[in-house]
Amino acid sequence: GSVIGILGGGQLGRMLSVAASRLGYRTHIYEPGAAPAGDVAHVVTTAPYEDEAALRAFAESVDVITYEFENVPTAALDLLESLRPIRPNRRALAVSQDRLTEKDFLTGIGLTTAPYRNVETEAELPAALAALGAPAILKTRRMGYDGKGQIRFGDKDQRDWTGAPSVLEGFVKFSAEVSVIVARGVDGQVSAFDPGLNVHREGILRTTTVPCGLSQALLTDAVLLAAKIVNALDYVGVMGVELFVTPKGLIVNEIAPRVHNSGHWTQAGCAVDQFEQHIRAVAGLPLGDGQRYADVEMENLIGDDVLRVPELLKQPRTQVHLYGKGAHRPGRKMGHINRLL
Ligand code: ATP
Ligand code: MG
Ligand code: MG
Repeated sequence: GSVIGILGGGQLGRMLSVAASRLGYRTHIYEPGAAPAGDVAHVVTTAPYEDEAALRAFAESVDVITYEFENVPTAALDLLESLRPIRPNRRALAVSQDRLTEKDFLTGIGLTTAPYRNVETEAELPAALAALGAPAILKTRRMGYDGKGQIRFGDKDQRDWTGAPSVLEGFVKFSAEVSVIVARGVDGQVSAFDPGLNVHREGILRTTTVPCGLSQALLTDAVLLAAKIVNALDYVGVMGVELFVTPKGLIVNEIAPRVHNSGHWTQAGCAVDQFEQHIRAVAGLPLGDGQRYADVEMENLIGDDVLRVPELLKQPRTQVHLYGKGAHRPGRKMGHINRLL
């Protein structure tokens, strides 16, 4: 059978590995650090992304390479791409590794983002703040997640700096945050899951609920704009598209070129979940049916939430997913539950 290579051994890689296994594939995970996916993958390489020999051996052992982590260094990707196909493609990665190129791409295809300015150095911040006004949010262009690397500016005379090239975004007064998990196959077929309503706490996704409560018109808009993004990138795989809902319509917050935390509900709500959908796409199989068959609330188990597991296991209509991570620490995603509503 074929082997699917996965860059990144976190919980997303773990759930991709399980889905691949169920479809008869073997997986080889490449992860520089600790790998919660290590116990379910068939082969694991623990080596830095700078280790050319390890990268080469990894690529030569697989048929196709995908990733659960978008910040793989460019040099490693260049080497891997010379040996095996990478899906989703390099352009999708390049666009989404940098918030500035991502926003330029999104606005370039006619979508709306928050107003933004490139702030290459601290010296450029006052002009950007004057242009956009306050409140505003400064975000590092690269590597940020779970709200890390972000500074909120309540007034334009406030001074603070992220320490790295950043973008300043005007603050969007949204009524809700929703996301679309969309997939595109090798043949260009597009399939989207029902948009979910996302609630964050301290910058970290807490819950995703479907249905999300949007009007039919906005639901259609959300799916169409997600399809526009994956088509424009000639994308293959699953993508998470985060949106703000405003009185003027939908604004794209950010895209993630991989399976997404806000798509975990599909494990309980759909015949083919986002992990299987991603494996199907990268393996060149037909996409699954994205239809939703249940109302679901996904809740992340963060830090010592995991202590609730004995209780959660007793709850009816509840799936418990644990990532096999050792110690719980504040802010660490340990698992999630999908509660059928
Ligand atoms: P993720 O873990 O989703 O990758 P991230 O670190 O990339 O997070 P963002 O998604 O950019 O961060 O922002 C985190 C949250 O901060 C958003 O979900 C939203 O609640 C809020 N936020 C971000 N940008 C804006 C904005 N321009 N206006 C208002 N709120 C914002
Ligand atoms: Mg992000
Ligand atoms: Mg986000």
